[in-house]
Amino acid sequence: MVAEGASERLERLLFLRRVQLQELARTDRWIRQERLRLSDPARTGERGARPAGPAMGARGWVVFTPEPVLDPPQLHVAGCGVRTPPERTRRIGQEELTRLAELGATLCTECDPLQNLRSGRP
Ligand SMILES: [Zn+2]
Repeated sequence: MVAEGASERLERLLFLRRVQLQELARTDRWIRQERLRLSDPARTGERGARPAGPAMGARGWVVFTPEPVLDPPQLHVAGCGVRTPPERTRRIGQEELTRLAELGATLCTECDPLQNLRSGRP
């Protein structure tokens, strides 16, 4: 009976460990999302002093900030057929595109913004 009790205790501890690992993974996910959110001025309400976007008529990239804010931002080639609300969409340059992609922003499968970047013809 003693051995059985010890075994149950071990099982409970292993179960507790699995739960804690899941919690940790979730917290890490929240941290990534928060970093991503903070990296996007459209989400933090900062205005002005935006980097100059591509010249009018030139193609480039845009970032769309969906609601709720915990959803990752989406990256598109400017003029992508996927329509995004203009008030939550802003133009970005190559550097920001790369940075947001590294941080885990969603890449549009229609326009494939990184493929577009690699091809050198935005
Ligand atoms: Zn797109």
